[in-house]
Amino acid sequence: MIEKVYGAIELGGTKIFGIIAKDRSNILTRLILPTKLPEQSIQELTTFFKEGSHELGVDLQSLGIGCFGPLDLNAHSKTFGYVTSTTKPGWKFTDIKGVFENELQIPIFLDTDVNASALGEFSNLLDQNIESFAYLTIGTGIGGGFIINGKLVHGLVHPEFGHIQISHDKNIDPFAGNCLYHGDCFEGLASGPALEERWNIPPKHLPENHPGWDLEAEYISSALMNLLCTISPQKIILGGGVMHQAHLFRRIHKKTKRLMNSYIKSKYLDSLISELITPPTLKDDSGIIGALELAIRGLQK
Ligand code: ZN
Repeated sequence: MIEKVYGAIELGGTKIFGIIAKDRSNILTRLILPTKLPEQSIQELTTFFKEGSHELGVDLQSLGIGCFGPLDLNAHSKTFGYVTSTTKPGWKFTDIKGVFENELQIPIFLDTDVNASALGEFSNLLDQNIESFAYLTIGTGIGGGFIINGKLVHGLVHPEFGHIQISHDKNIDPFAGNCLYHGDCFEGLASGPALEERWNIPPKHLPENHPGWDLEAEYISSALMNLLCTISPQKIILGGGVMHQAHLFRRIHKKTKRLMNSYIKSKYLDSLISELITPPTLKDDSGIIGALELAIRGLQK
C-alpha cells in the first residue's frame, strides 16, 4: 500500500520552507529556498512536491500553507486564497490556494504565517486542556494568532494584533513610531525596525542593561494586558527575533503583573506568571509544523 503523507509550506517574505511528512515526528524531506517572484517560487515548490512524493513513493493527501499576508480568507470572495495588498514586490494579488490546487490536485489549506505558527505551538502544548491560546511574534513586524475553543480565530478578515493602539507617553519616549498606517501602534513602537530606528542600533546589539529594553517590555506588557482582558488566554507564547532576548521575559512577567494589578484573580497572573507567558517550544519550526497541522486537521473537518 502506498503511504499517505502531507505537504506543508511556510511562505515567508525572504525564505520559503517546504516539507513532506507522515506527521510532525516523521518528516521525510525538507526544502529551503529564498523567496523569489511568485511564478518562480510556486514552480519550485510544486516541483518539490511532485518529484518528492514520486521519489519517496508516497501519496500526498493535502497541503497546508502558512503565508505572509494580508490574505483573503473569505471563502465567498472572488480573491479567496490570494495574497492581497502586500508591499512585497511582485506578490500583490497573487493566487496561492488556486494555483497549488490546480498543480497538485489535492485539498489546500491556507492561513496566515502567524496563524500557522500559533497552531504549531498550540498543537505542541503539554497541557491538552488549554482552549484559549495566544501566539505573538515580535520581530520585523508584530503579529498575533489566537485559538479559542481549540479553533484559530479568523472573523471579518483575520486578526492584526500588531496594529492595536497601546499607551505611548511621548515625554518618556518621543519616538513617533514607524508604522506606515498608524505611526505609534504596537508594531510602530515595538517591532525590531522600530527599536533600531529609535536607538540607531540593531536590537541584537542593544546591550542588556540599555533602558530601551525596559521600554520594550513596557509596550509588550501593555499589549498583553489588552489580550488578557479580551480573550483571557490560558497560555501566551512570545516568539520572533526580538524575543530571542531571553531577559525580556522576566521584565514582561514583572510589568504585566504590575499592570494587571491583581484585578483578575489567577495564580497564573501572580506567582505562576512565568508559566503563562513563555517562549516557543518549537523554536524556528512553529510555522512549518503549524502548516503541517493545517494540512492534517483540514482533512478531518
Ligand atoms: Zn500599525
